[in-house]
Amino acid sequence: MVSLRKPIALAALPAAALFLMALDLPENPPVPEQRPEASTAQPGSAAAPEKADAATETEDAAKAEGAEAGKPAEEAPKPDAAAEGEDADKSSADEEAIEKVEEDLPDDPPVPEERADNPPTPPPADPKPAKEDAEAFNRCTAELMKLGTAFKVLDTIDGPGICGIDRPLEVTMVIKGVELSPAGTMRCETALALANWAKDYVNPTAKVALSKDAELKRINQASTYICRSRNNVEGAKVSEHAKGNAIDIASLTFSDGTVVDMEPRMTDGTATGAFQRTVSAAACLYFKTVLAPGSDATHQDHMHLDVIDRKGGYRYCR
Ligand SMILES: [Zn+2]
Repeated sequence: MVSLRKPIALAALPAAALFLMALDLPENPPVPEQRPEASTAQPGSAAAPEKADAATETEDAAKAEGAEAGKPAEEAPKPDAAAEGEDADKSSADEEAIEKVEEDLPDDPPVPEERADNPPTPPPADPKPAKEDAEAFNRCTAELMKLGTAFKVLDTIDGPGICGIDRPLEVTMVIKGVELSPAGTMRCETALALANWAKDYVNPTAKVALSKDAELKRINQASTYICRSRNNVEGAKVSEHAKGNAIDIASLTFSDGTVVDMEPRMTDGTATGAFQRTVSAAACLYFKTVLAPGSDATHQDHMHLDVIDRKGGYRYCR
């Protein structure tokens, strides 16, 4: 009997030991077990105890990794998994890719931006081009004819928005003998300011600064009427060019062949520099805005002149 009991007891010992070991095993290495099983196919039998362990031991880590910090870490391996062709990773990668696309769609709001960009180009529809006072217009055109200005009255330019001129003139000759090249469209008030400036200051100044025989022959313009915002900046206020109030001058051509390009000349020590600074300052007598070359980044190669009507007759000349 004894001899029989011993083998039984001996046989029972390893079984008990294995049982105890089996009890110990899942408790000790719960962390390493979860990760390999999660990646390999999980039959399901071990799921319950693992979840319990995971809940107790790796809850904090899972929270830390999974909630927010886990997202960037997951994003890196995704391209590799997809390239390797693992089905499980593929599906999760696809889902995440779709999520990314879905996230991008609402986050990409170029639509509202475009909507914000587009309206300014056609300025607000409420205001219309200003009506020209009939008497003032007639006085103005009479003055132009005395000065020898060559022009014709065009049909009303109406819109879009505030853009346009009620009584536009197409000017081909600024004063007698001085061509406007190319012909430009503007209000009469603009044409008259240009004509008086050319007659009273440009020509006399040229005779002193350039040569006794210098006669202004041509004003080479870069822009007259055009429907656009200030400095072509979207969303900016509508330019005085869009109301027929402005002209940009690129250069002046004289009878002796001299061409004076409008360029920054504040420190130009030549007679030409003195000429440009003088006619630029004189332009402020006739125009309400003078932006000489070099006055700002957008006025480097032309002189902007306009007859904008400011409160108190204020003039802005730089
Ligand atoms: Zn301009």
